[in-house]
Amino acid sequence: MMFIKSDSEIRLMRKAGAVAAGALEAAGKAVCPGISTKELDRIVESYIQSHGARPSFKGYGGFPASACISINEVVIHGIPSESRVLQEGDIVSVDVGAYLNGFHGDTANTFPVGRVSEEAARLIEATRESLRRAELLLRDGVRLGDIGHCIESYVQQFGYSPVRDFVGHGVGRALHEDPNIPNYGRAGHGLRLPKGATVAIEPMINQGTERVIVSSEDGWTVTTADGKLSAHCEHTFFIDADCAHILTRVE
Ligand code: MG
Repeated sequence: MMFIKSDSEIRLMRKAGAVAAGALEAAGKAVCPGISTKELDRIVESYIQSHGARPSFKGYGGFPASACISINEVVIHGIPSESRVLQEGDIVSVDVGAYLNGFHGDTANTFPVGRVSEEAARLIEATRESLRRAELLLRDGVRLGDIGHCIESYVQQFGYSPVRDFVGHGVGRALHEDPNIPNYGRAGHGLRLPKGATVAIEPMINQGTERVIVSSEDGWTVTTADGKLSAHCEHTFFIDADCAHILTRVE
């Protein structure tokens, strides 16, 4: 079932969202050649904890870290490690959740490491733009098929594919609430989101095939099946009467 939030609950979610956004911003500023993904994870964790919050992902389903950090062909759920060191030309996705006052905020972005190829830069920009375009559709009554179709049709014009095996979601007292929010869909179809819904919309966009593989070694790391790049961008939104508000914004 979908949970509708009151104004006071939205105020609390904005606080959680601001912590998640601040932690993501801090990680993004630290991205550079030579830094390990574990060090980025420490930056995220210490930011969250120093703001009185708890990292949503740590221990969630057994996930061992505070941030998911996914390099190049890793789509999502990369596990931070001292031995994974960013190289010039990589792209790195950082996904952060913060839990504060009973609510979660969930946000992600993909950053270039130093100078990246034109292809990599274009993928990142298209992924961010697909989320901006979806945001413009959000309002009381928006249909899930319209959100998914907006993201899918935008990125397909560049030959990219939205991942289908992982999707956006409702978010609030639980990190993952109903409904699922696919990054693909049929315009004019699907469930309607009402005013008061809070949702994490998160295009995961592959340069090549939409197909992905979950690592059999760690059970987490999701990579593109063809080894090509993937980018990820996410915000938590509150659906209002005639627009949406980003809750994962630094205050
Ligand atoms: Mg999410």
